[in-house]
This record gives sequence, structure tokens and C-alpha cells, in this order.
Amino acid sequence: MKAIQIANPGGPESLRLVEIERPIPAPNQVLIEVRAIGVNYVDIYYREGIYPAALPLTPGQEGAGVIVEVGDQVEKFRVGDQVAWCMYLGAYAEYAVVPEYHLVHLPATIDFEQAAAILLQGMTAQYLATSTFSLKPGNTLLLHAAAGGVGLLLTQMAAQAGAHVIGTVSTEEKAELARLAGAQDVILYTHQDFEYEVKRITGGRGVDVVYDSVGKTTFERSLKCLRPRGMLVLFGASSGPVPPVDPIHLSLNGSIFLTRPSLAHYTLTRAELDARSGDVFGRLGSGKLQLRIHQKFPLVDVVRAQEELQARRTTGKILLIP
Ligand code: NDP
Repeated sequence: MKAIQIANPGGPESLRLVEIERPIPAPNQVLIEVRAIGVNYVDIYYREGIYPAALPLTPGQEGAGVIVEVGDQVEKFRVGDQVAWCMYLGAYAEYAVVPEYHLVHLPATIDFEQAAAILLQGMTAQYLATSTFSLKPGNTLLLHAAAGGVGLLLTQMAAQAGAHVIGTVSTEEKAELARLAGAQDVILYTHQDFEYEVKRITGGRGVDVVYDSVGKTTFERSLKCLRPRGMLVLFGASSGPVPPVDPIHLSLNGSIFLTRPSLAHYTLTRAELDARSGDVFGRLGSGKLQLRIHQKFPLVDVVRAQEELQARRTTGKILLIP
């Protein structure tokens, strides 16, 4: 089968197309014929070696397809089932073995491309909006990269919860998409001082919560955008990792809370995975959530797909098709 492998972490050129043996599912695993692969920013951290992994590595943490083989002791899944998964490496390939624990069935209303485009980013937006900070009418939030994959979904969920969304983006085109998704205020943080703008928009009060996945270039000023006892949710590092923080800064900025959540810890049980994925698929199937697939690339064009994402030229989701 064809797969993408990384032998030495580094730039996009370290993504190599190889021909390898089709894997065999171990106990508790299934073999999936992959129909669509979700590209996520986390794939770039793995490619660059920021997240360590055994090499050679087949990257990709999200996909959808049909089960073609089932290992021993698999309980809830059968050959022929249409499924999706996330948070398990090996998606950039024609076939992938995935533990049963990570799988969800596709509802009839959701096709492979939709599933591979929404599962990881949709469940992320869902836990950020409902669990890390439970958004309510009257809340005001600052969301960086509001026109990105997670950004557009979180903007919609936050606006639907009745919260006032202030989004940041790098271009006018992205600003328009963030507004269409429900952001009431949009700041072009590449041209405007977002800390000043947030203070202006909130009449000096600050926001209840900041969702910051940009990291290095935004973190310091994100702290200053919060109201007293507000919460900074640092959930990514698209511009690079944040240096160590002295806890006194949490006090000096208004006894604020800082959390660094991960989807893995918000899908700890089968019940939690089913509830979050069911909520996301339900919102998509009922038309409450709009999904934006920015571009689909053939698997062999993986280098171009990751270059586009890293160069900030994408909005919404990127897919690879085997
Ligand atoms: P996006 O589609 O949001 O792409 C990243 C965006 O970040 C860019 O489009 C860009 O938007 C913005 N950005 C700002 N500075 C930079 C920079 N220097 N280089 C590149 N991009 C930059 O990606 P995803 O939706 O896949 O992921 C968004 C973030 O959420 C990532 O940091 C990811 O790691 C994180 N994440 C965290 C999860 C968790 O559970 N903790 C789960 C899923 C994702 P603009 O041009 O508008 O600035």
C-alpha cells in the first residue's frame, strides 16, 4: 500500500511517499481502508519532531473509511462498518490500523469527507466551548485564528451559546469568514494591537475567556486581555511554543486562571468520546454547524497540503484523499 513516512523529522521535504506492507490488526484493533484523511496542525508538530514519536513514522491523526479486517477481541465494530477516528497516528496511508477505543461509527447523515474534516477539530471546539469553559449568554471571549479549522467551528459554537465572540485573523478574507461564522468583532492582529482593541471593545473590562492556539506571538498579550479571575485557555502553539511562565503573572494580571488542555483528556472514556462525537455529528447533520473544507489534496501532494497550512494560507479544513 502507499503511505507517507517520516524517517527524519524536519521540513515538509521529510514527508516521503513509500510503498509498504498493509498492516495486520492486532487484538483490539481494526484495519481501515482509508477514504479521507484530516490534516491538522498537530501533524506539523510531529513532522518537525516537537512531539517525539518512534521512527519511521506514518503521520496523521484523523481519518474515515471502511473496516476491512477486524482483530481479536474487537467488540463493537464489524467488517463493512463505516467509521472515523482521531488521535491515533498512521492516517496518511491507504490503510490504517486503529484501536477500537478510538473509533466511532458514522451516522447516515455524515459522509467520509465530512467525518475526516470535523471529528478532531469539532470535538476540540466542543470541549473548549462546553467543558474547559462552559460558555453562557453574556460571556465575551477572545479567539485567536478564528478562521482556522478549529477557529471557524468554535466561533459558531460560541455564538450559538449566546457568547460575544471577538476573533483575531491575519487577512480581510479571513475576517469575513469569521464574521459569517458569528464573530461580532474581528481584529486583524497582524496590523492592529489586539490587546488595545479588546480593551476598547469591552470598555476596559477585558474578556471572560481567551482561547489561544497561536502561542508564542500572542500569549503575553492574551494574559492582559482578561477580566479579573478570567481564564486563559492555551490550546496550541501554531507560532511556536510559549516559554516557561512565572505563576506570579497570573496574580499580577488579575488572579486569572491558566489551563493547557488536550482533546485526549476530554475524551477519557468511551461514553465521553461518544457524547462529544455525537454532539458534533448531530450539529453538522442538523445544519447547525457549517463545515468549511478549504481544499482537498491527493495523498501524494501531502507536502503542498502541509506547506499551505503552515504558511497561513488556509481557512477551515484541509483533507488528503488516498
Ligand atoms: P488552523 O487551521 O487554525 O491553522 C493555524 C492558524 O494559526 C493559521 O491559519 C493562522 O491563522 C494562525 N497562525 C498565527 N500565527 C501563525 C504562525 N506563525 N504560523 C502558522 N500559523 C499561524 O489549524 P488547526 O485548526 O488544525 O489547529 C489550530 C490550533 O489548535 C493549533 O495550534 C493546534 O495545535 C491546536 N489544537 C489543539 C488541540 C487540543 O486539544 N489542545 C486539538 C486540535 C488543535 P491567521 O492567518 O488568521 O493568523
